[in-house]
Amino acid sequence: MENLYELFELPDFSSYEIVKSRFQELARKLHPDKLVNHKESNTKEASNQFIKIKEAWNTLSDPGCKLQYDYKLKQCQNESSYTVNEVLCLEDFTLNTDFADDENDQEEVYVNDCRCGGRYELIQSDLNEMKHIPVPLIIGCSNCSLCVEVTMQ
Ligand SMILES: [Zn+2]
Repeated sequence: MENLYELFELPDFSSYEIVKSRFQELARKLHPDKLVNHKESNTKEASNQFIKIKEAWNTLSDPGCKLQYDYKLKQCQNESSYTVNEVLCLEDFTLNTDFADDENDQEEVYVNDCRCGGRYELIQSDLNEMKHIPVPLIIGCSNCSLCVEVTMQ
């Protein structure tokens, strides 16, 4: 099974927000319209990569598809092949009231500090999905490659 997170060069089971910002970054870099000045061979390679990234994004941008994909990926992986740093309860997270400057971005974000100084972020839509699909939610640190598993209790 192809690991879509590797395409994005992200830790497995990275959250939607993390995948989204990486997708936007790669799309800016690889979009065929941006490559007019490049050599033809490079352009072709970049546009193939762009297609792959776009397909991966189609899966990971849909919360339901992403959860199903994560679940399958987890099943495919040997238990010891990815590292969950620790298992946290939802109660270990604190609601971040320090909203970003973007006033349109009013979704509630729960945060927990990682030991590297980065943080784990859990958004309201992740929580909603957790209530419907009984798979553990695994989120990556915003800064390092550590992951934590979040349980509802
Ligand atoms: Zn970290």
